[in-house]
Amino acid sequence: MKSNLKVNIDKADLKRGVRLVVKIGTSVITNNKNAVCEKMISALASQIATLQKEGLKVIIVSSGAIAAGVHRMGWKQKPKKISHLQAAAAVGQVSLVEAYEKEFKKNGLTTAQVLITGEDFSSRKRYLNSRATFETLLNENILVIVNENDTVSTDEIKVGDNDTLAASIATAIQADLFVILTDQKGLFTENPVSSSRADLIRSIDVDDDILSKVASKSHSEFGTGGMKTKIKAARMVARLGIDTIIASGFEIDILLKIKSKNFVGTTILSGKKNKSISARKQWMLNHIKAKGKLYLDSGAINALVQYNKSLLPIGIVKIDGRFDRGDLVVCMTDEGVEVARGLINYSSLEAEKISGLASGQIEKALGYMEEPEVIHKDNLILISSSFEDSNTIGANSSKAEQ
Ligand code: GLU
Repeated sequence: MKSNLKVNIDKADLKRGVRLVVKIGTSVITNNKNAVCEKMISALASQIATLQKEGLKVIIVSSGAIAAGVHRMGWKQKPKKISHLQAAAAVGQVSLVEAYEKEFKKNGLTTAQVLITGEDFSSRKRYLNSRATFETLLNENILVIVNENDTVSTDEIKVGDNDTLAASIATAIQADLFVILTDQKGLFTENPVSSSRADLIRSIDVDDDILSKVASKSHSEFGTGGMKTKIKAARMVARLGIDTIIASGFEIDILLKIKSKNFVGTTILSGKKNKSISARKQWMLNHIKAKGKLYLDSGAINALVQYNKSLLPIGIVKIDGRFDRGDLVVCMTDEGVEVARGLINYSSLEAEKISGLASGQIEKALGYMEEPEVIHKDNLILISSSFEDSNTIGANSSKAEQ
């Protein structure tokens, strides 16, 4: 069945190249003994070589390091202790990248390895640096293989799962399409493992309510995701107008079939999301974790939503959370519906003192005035109702550096 995928990946823009981010799950890339599956990598390599020749640029986000490390170390099962998991990742990443390098080389492709942590997205400077590196590698037609830097990632700086990591990369490089290859054929109406009535969803809009319902929590032993994180990742990229395909990595020539729009799988259509928001706002929206909530009165909500105004202290009714100047906060209605996100000019302690006041009273209340607005409109992004299951990685982020 032909898919109704929007992007025309048949006709590559030869200058920029049509960009695909392909996330490959642990269960696809390792075999039942947890060893890296060279046959799978070989199949992917020949497909990607074909795609590259046709002007497509591919970035691979590959899981599998921990599983491969467990295999290499001769352990019977995935350890629980963090330091053991990190050691396994260190060992396994070598086997993984070695296998990719070998198979891609056979197909005439040069590979690069990029290991990333949440901090590389939440710090604006590091984000811009890594984005520039990705651009260079893409322009040089190098096949980039990305994984989380599991060996150094602690809870605070961890992205946590490669679905989210891959979505972050897709937004950073403005991918044309985001592909998640997993051990399932796609999204089902019910859990296909436990229900015989489960139907494959071929195509669905990212705002469709069904998506929230199908977010099953199925986990494989080594993968951290499950369908829930895949849907969350699809929502993340959809904000920038990028469609997602979830398909089986075991289907023969799946990437080539996706290119010809003739594949079995689920397409999550981005709808008409805002592809034109500035790069800085994209970064804010997708890569920093909100530190607090501001509950606003109806006047303030109207000013934000209808007139694209800045947020003034007078419209704030209640404040939740602890945050510093420059942190990302969420603006809510009194019923708890999120309407906007933005970088705040005041800390939570300061905001408590000035909420409900006119801007002219800030100086009297604090003894100084940073800015008349609590959030300037340039640092504010309005949110559609589909935002509720929001992403946000990189818990360490605080200051907007630019
Ligand atoms: N980074 C992990 C690994 O390579 C995988 C994380 C995930 O499954 O999402 O094993």
